[in-house]
Amino acid sequence: MAKSGESCTFCGRSSRDVNLLINGISGAICDDCAQQAYEIVKEQIPGKKSSFSLEQEELPKPEDIKTFLDQYVIGQDDAKRYLSVAVYNHYKRLIQKITTDDVEIEKSNIIMVGATGTGKTLLARTIAKLLHVPFAIVDATVLTEAGYVGEDIESILTRLLQAADYDVESAQRGIVFIDEIDKIARKSDNPSITRDVSGEGVQQGLLKLLEGSIVNVPPQGGRKHPEQKMIAVDTKNILFVCGGAFDGIEKKIAQRLNTRVVGYTASDNTSQIDRNNLLKYITPTDLKSFGLIPEIIGRLPILTYLNPLDRTTLRNILTEPKNSIIKQYVKLFEMDGIKLTFDESVYEYIVDKALEFKLGARGLRSIVEAIMMDAMFSMPSADETELHITLDYATEKFEKSDVNRLQAAS
Ligand code: ADP
Repeated sequence: MAKSGESCTFCGRSSRDVNLLINGISGAICDDCAQQAYEIVKEQIPGKKSSFSLEQEELPKPEDIKTFLDQYVIGQDDAKRYLSVAVYNHYKRLIQKITTDDVEIEKSNIIMVGATGTGKTLLARTIAKLLHVPFAIVDATVLTEAGYVGEDIESILTRLLQAADYDVESAQRGIVFIDEIDKIARKSDNPSITRDVSGEGVQQGLLKLLEGSIVNVPPQGGRKHPEQKMIAVDTKNILFVCGGAFDGIEKKIAQRLNTRVVGYTASDNTSQIDRNNLLKYITPTDLKSFGLIPEIIGRLPILTYLNPLDRTTLRNILTEPKNSIIKQYVKLFEMDGIKLTFDESVYEYIVDKALEFKLGARGLRSIVEAIMMDAMFSMPSADETELHITLDYATEKFEKSDVNRLQAAS
């Protein structure tokens, strides 16, 4: 018999035939056997925690979830409350110990409607951060029906598997954010005239995932091909959060509100309607008129909306969140031993420009970037330990920047 240290005690293969041999006190194990042993341990001790596991005691209550979201996302209170409750119920359902007489709690996927850049992705991402569950973002516009140019629906789950380091069990309780869901709306009212590969067909495909089924997922993404080994993923417990701008849906809401208010309560209702923010009256019917198929709407029972960002909100986004844009710049300079400060008027200027160019919250970053570019280039090699940004400095830097030129020209 070969000596310990020369061959694997489990499979007997010599060190020459394996990639790695790990020596113990009176034996050795090769990399293959170690891997197999790990799989067995995982199977036999199901309670063993993966880095993504969640227990009842750890589950934050809806109010805790909202408080956490408040640290990162400004405003959007309604969306935060809806999300907090939906996520809490979803995870309560996951840890529910199933007994025969238990009422089975149904999954409640979420759909958020709101203009681009109002914080939909940020909300979903922040929740995933709080819960330590795998989180993937996918763009519905790249999805097509199988066999057409674009990505298969299953690629959504590939992303989630990747985020979970291919730990299937964790991925099965993860969160998927599907952005731009409005872009797969049916283009015409009559679904049978032409084949709509990027619209209704994709919605049908998506339905399978939302409903909860076992889906074969290509681990590396891309198109399925016969040689590729598939991973079976059960989507029953995956929480899907969809987001979309649904441009023009306000018109449909207005139409519906008008037809409804024609009745005898007309005078009461019309006086209370906030015409500047019709989204807050959104109902599943409006999503249907926009072109989502009823089956999809039915699988997204939690419908909420985001407010447009007004001046005060933009101003707060700049400095208030835990990782606000300004705090990030202060940190960057701090790492070079430089104390960065701003005049209050600079913040106002940045917000003015974001509003003027209709750039929303995303624009705030590009504007700050334009103002800070020169300083970020030269300060790390200078001896100074302080940098104060005045309104004059900010105006001068911004006006000669590309952002300004591009926006002014457009
Ligand atoms: P959406 O998904 O609605 O298009 P995002 O969530 O991607 O928008 O927002 C874009 C960026 O704008 C975020 O990274 C964030 O910096 C900022 N932002 C948008 N809305 C908010 C908000 N309500 N609070 C804080 N930051 C926000």
